[in-house]
Amino acid sequence: MERVVGSDRVVVIGAGLSGLAAAHRLVSPAARLSARRPLDLMVLEARDRTGGAIWTNRRDGFTLEGGADSFITNKPAALDLCRELGLAGHLIETDASRRRSFVIRDGRLLPVPEGFVMMAPSKLWPVLASPLLSLRGKMRFLMERFVPRRDESTEESLAAFVRRRFGREVLERLVQPLVGGIYTADPNELSIDATLSQFPEMERQHGSLIKAAIRNARLTRQKNDRTDSGARYGLFLSLDEGMDLLPKTLEASLPAGSLRTNTPVRRLLKSEHTNDWRVELLDGTTIQASAVILAAEAHASARLIDPCDQELARLLRTIPYASSLVVNVAYKRNAIKHPLNGFGVVVPAIEERPILAVSFTSVKFPGRAPADSVLLRVFLGGALQPEMFELDDETISSVVEQELGELLGARGAPLFMDISRHSRSMPQYILGHRARVASIRDQVKLHPGLFLTGNAFDGVGIPDCIRGAQEKADAVSAFLSANPGMAAA
Ligand SMILES: Cc1cc2nc3c(=O)[nH]c(=O)nc-3n(C[C@H](O)[C@H](O)[C@H](O)COP(=O)(O)OP(=O)(O)OC[C@H]3O[C@@H](n4cnc5c(N)ncnc54)[C@H](O)[C@@H]3O)c2cc1C
Repeated sequence: MERVVGSDRVVVIGAGLSGLAAAHRLVSPAARLSARRPLDLMVLEARDRTGGAIWTNRRDGFTLEGGADSFITNKPAALDLCRELGLAGHLIETDASRRRSFVIRDGRLLPVPEGFVMMAPSKLWPVLASPLLSLRGKMRFLMERFVPRRDESTEESLAAFVRRRFGREVLERLVQPLVGGIYTADPNELSIDATLSQFPEMERQHGSLIKAAIRNARLTRQKNDRTDSGARYGLFLSLDEGMDLLPKTLEASLPAGSLRTNTPVRRLLKSEHTNDWRVELLDGTTIQASAVILAAEAHASARLIDPCDQELARLLRTIPYASSLVVNVAYKRNAIKHPLNGFGVVVPAIEERPILAVSFTSVKFPGRAPADSVLLRVFLGGALQPEMFELDDETISSVVEQELGELLGARGAPLFMDISRHSRSMPQYILGHRARVASIRDQVKLHPGLFLTGNAFDGVGIPDCIRGAQEKADAVSAFLSANPGMAAA
């Protein structure tokens, strides 16, 4: 497919959040103003819909999130993009009166100690008073303040870091389930520097996570006391109509005809006589482009780039992925015995149950279910339970029903269940991740006009994906400005 003469064609492969955010940035007024030539944008998506790991189903007054259900606000990229897209009026906050979570111990739901965020306790007493840890576990937890800084610069796994600072019990009973819910990962494999680098940084700066967290909490309180009231959001936000409003609005912002769904790309090739790229579709059609943004999963990008650069493909394949399941379950409110007075419950691996977590979705975001009903989201699979992904829907349904019966006192059959499967969609930032990404970036430099983005590299969360994609779009604009001759048709 020939390009429009006198324009720069850019092809974005993959219309998940990363691909859409990159495409949107490429056609933003700022990018167009600085461009030397008009842009001819094409966004190619294999599936029949955009959004990738983000999709929303609606049924009988329930809003069912198949993937992501919210985003964090302490990294501003997602909030800023929502505002830019005119979605500020659609942002919803979590219900502040119920902001707490539970963790399972011996089959019972116990509150996560107040002030304990991921692995930094800003209050000591709630941890000491909690039945979650044994007396011995609590003593070891308190010793954290006296554990010396680690001087070695070698990379540490998340599990090794937490064991060293707080001891085994805090790892097994609190940090593993809390972090496991985010990365669906094995903490013994996960790189602390690539995932939660703020905690080693706290250690480096303050010598102790307890000291650092208590100090940070005090500073935040003082700052909030000084700040006038204004639009201040909680830590997590969502969208009233469902998370797919974000990809759908991005999609609507693109030039008419630039997006093609049901269009899987087969491979990428370099043109023989020009510096152009040839994007070959599964149906055999070829599209020529001055620049290509690969925004697919790393394993999918590896397949596409393999004919052109086997080493780059090999490097991309070294990023492992986990598969997971999200099951939306609806009940009448009176069918559940537990008061559901929190946002959800996480399940430590040491409890040996077949699920990872349950989110009390309609408590967290009250508009997600009709008033007399509740909506729960159950998470299964991930790196620690890969066998769960292989089970058929019927078995998954009965596992979920039994678990909700035992843990929350759910009685009788649910109103309905909706099972979403995420096959190899969560990259695992295992030890060596940063070095792996650096090698990939070095290898990409050998290919002018090729850009890689997506959740495999600098963060899996929505704000990280958006920021990474925007940076790549800006790099494409700079590349096109610096190489005007390359686009001559
Ligand atoms: C179950 C789950 C829950 C999550 N919850 C949250 C949350 O609450 N908050 C949060 O911040 N983050 C969450 N995340 C993470 C976040 O949603 C993802 O990291 C992010 O959406 C990934 O976007 P992406 O565009 O990089 O990748 P993807 O969404 O994986 O998109 C890649 C796209 O490339 C397409 N593609 C692949 N191969 C080809 C090809 N050959 N040709 C054309 N197209 C191709 C795919 O079809 C797909 O649409 C969650 C993730 C999962 C899996």
